[in-house]
Amino acid sequence: MNEQLEQKMLIAGPCGAESRNQVLDTARGIAERCPSAWFRAGVWKPRTRPGSFEGVGEAALDWLCEVRNETGLRVMTEVANTRQVEACLKAGLDAVWIGARTTVNPFLVQELADALSGTRIQVLVKNPLHPDPLLWLGAIERMQAAVGPEVIAIHRGFHSFETSQFRNHPLWQVAFELRSMLPGIRMVCDISHIAGSRPLLRSVAQEALDLGYDGWMIETHIDPDHALSDAQQQVTPAQLAELLHSLDFRHSLIPEGEALQAILRHRSEIDRLDGELLKLLRERMAYSALIGEIKKEHNISIFQPERWREVLSTMRAQGEDIGLPGAFIRNLFIQIHDESVRLQGEIISKPAGEQPVRDSEN
Ligand code: PEP
Ligand code: MN
Repeated sequence: MNEQLEQKMLIAGPCGAESRNQVLDTARGIAERCPSAWFRAGVWKPRTRPGSFEGVGEAALDWLCEVRNETGLRVMTEVANTRQVEACLKAGLDAVWIGARTTVNPFLVQELADALSGTRIQVLVKNPLHPDPLLWLGAIERMQAAVGPEVIAIHRGFHSFETSQFRNHPLWQVAFELRSMLPGIRMVCDISHIAGSRPLLRSVAQEALDLGYDGWMIETHIDPDHALSDAQQQVTPAQLAELLHSLDFRHSLIPEGEALQAILRHRSEIDRLDGELLKLLRERMAYSALIGEIKKEHNISIFQPERWREVLSTMRAQGEDIGLPGAFIRNLFIQIHDESVRLQGEIISKPAGEQPVRDSEN
């Protein structure tokens, strides 16, 4: 293992603990290649539909303890109620994580925090299923109040109805928002639940590395194809090591020299263009404000779906013609249009006679 890799937190192990042999063989495979890893295994599995594999329950805690005794790996599992917390504390696990389906519920999170209160167990908190950074923050704060500041955040992506290559959309900006509210929080990327399939794992792991994450959670199984849950996304211990060694550790600081000079030159062009973009946006908003005045005078509704569809499809087509991805243009114009609608709403709700602030500038 290279030194930079050594410094990252690696959490590896099967989605679910299925049998003593499956747990121990997987752990041996991981320990041999990544001796400083933490070992994960779901003892109680929160499954979407009843009837799927729901974990073997408390019996698996003994297997986790065996893993620690035999391999030295630190062991963890997911907890979702106080009974499970008590069983993990009694078994002496090194860590527990709060799953995405639990983070959404502050009542439950508080119950878990109360059950963990005053212990020194390592707690990790996954993001909630939907992209709400405050809910994630709240769960972490409740845990910090119970066990101290060393709580770790796990970014496992967000459920979306939009089809994409990911099982759970990463929405990296949500994790950044959490980081900006909790500077210094350690953040691990659960690449398995984001990717959902083996071919995507490496690129998600690389992206997390490039974005400065502190480590990865990677579901690892001695026989992934026959796993009782999440078979498509699990890797063998050998594939785990191969994936980790294939990652490019880039320089986080740009070294002095030609590359730095070139970057600085390009950055100054970007700064100039960003300034131009802002002026264009202000000009565009001024026209929106004028339209807002007319809508107010003639009692016309602000949101005009036909017009919005036309703007979006024209801009997407124009953007794609010049090589800008449609999804990017769509997101950009959603933001711009939202602001126009907000601005016109402000104008319409203003008592007659008052000038809208932005319009007066041009
Ligand atoms: C898991 O880690 O196996 C799991 C169920 O995760 P999540 O809570 O992210 O869905
Ligand atoms: Mn899983």
